[in-house]
Amino acid sequence: MKLVNQQLIKNNNLKLLYNLIHQEQGISRTQLARLSQLSKTTVSSLVDELIERNFIYDSGTEENGAIGRNPNSLQLKSGELYVVVMRWSEREIETQVIDICGSTVFQLLTVLGSRSYGEESAQIFFHTILEEFPSQQLLGISIVIPAMIDGEREEIFSTTLNPSLLTPDTISILRRNFSQFPVALLNDTACTAYAEKIYARVSEQDFAFINFDKGIGATLFIRNVMLGQATASYTQFGHYSVNPKGRLCSCGNHGCLEITIGEDALREQLLKTGTPTPLTALLELTYADLGTSATYGDAAAQKVIQYIVENFSPALANLVCLVHPKLIIIGGRGKELGAVFLEELQKSLKTTGFQKMMSSLQVRYGMLDSDACFKGAMKYFFDIHFDFTQTMTAKIFFG
Ligand SMILES: [Zn+2]
Repeated sequence: MKLVNQQLIKNNNLKLLYNLIHQEQGISRTQLARLSQLSKTTVSSLVDELIERNFIYDSGTEENGAIGRNPNSLQLKSGELYVVVMRWSEREIETQVIDICGSTVFQLLTVLGSRSYGEESAQIFFHTILEEFPSQQLLGISIVIPAMIDGEREEIFSTTLNPSLLTPDTISILRRNFSQFPVALLNDTACTAYAEKIYARVSEQDFAFINFDKGIGATLFIRNVMLGQATASYTQFGHYSVNPKGRLCSCGNHGCLEITIGEDALREQLLKTGTPTPLTALLELTYADLGTSATYGDAAAQKVIQYIVENFSPALANLVCLVHPKLIIIGGRGKELGAVFLEELQKSLKTTGFQKMMSSLQVRYGMLDSDACFKGAMKYFFDIHFDFTQTMTAKIFFG
């Protein structure tokens, strides 16, 4: 028991130091000791371990010249250690190998055929990734899924993945194939939200990140902790019903937010406005199309944006009533709805919901691009699941 505690403390301290160096490259051991409140001796020995294991280097001692060198300038070491991130979607698997310093060094798009998600992922990893990267440089694998991930029952529930390729034995396929590597199954919205928190440096401790993608998802941070980890099993905001008598959703519920204001519903709403617009020529209408046209004054686009606001705003107000986040960040493709949507939403929230909570609520768009999900998945794996003090093989993490 004592050994376990010591390992836990050591792992936490190594991560703390690593992340402090990440925040301030070139930091010295003395500054690290002050910021981490660890003793100088402890910092010195942990820094030596990080250097030895290729996570960081001391740019003062690495350089060969002795003149004017600063013997105490710690930097993250890039090009040494990676996390493999695979994102499953309806028709393809996108793979990125990401340096733990945050740069993507390898990308691959695989169109799915008859192989299941589990089998295709193993194929990609063993036949492509391991050809390019030595296994000792790979810390682990994050599989990013638009799904609810149930660790207790070892089940993945998704309304957007191809059901015939998401076979019931997916977890056993992964376990069988990846017995030498740790694998984390992570929800997509949670990964994007984590990237926003870390890389866009969100300082608010209580916030909700709403992701508009093929579906609509939410991840909540309460006191800086992600609610329910990256499983999406605590909140299914996209399946909040805004119209109990509305259309049947694939989840079994009626009038879900996702089918009411998701991109697939936009064209129908545009036609319903009866307002002439060149947008009717588009067979698929996106948030970006609406956002751009509304900005330039297209009346039909503005009406559809108003319709989105009317449905989104009460759902958001009810979410605030339940958990009271102080900040709402709209990410993913939602931010392509542009300035008109954000302005209308903020206006609507002034008269919707429990005003004591709503009056101090801030709403803004996410800062990061569409790749954020991959970076978030890498960082989440490193921060939450990677363990400096344990052998990381044959482990599957749910969320
Ligand atoms: Zn639903």
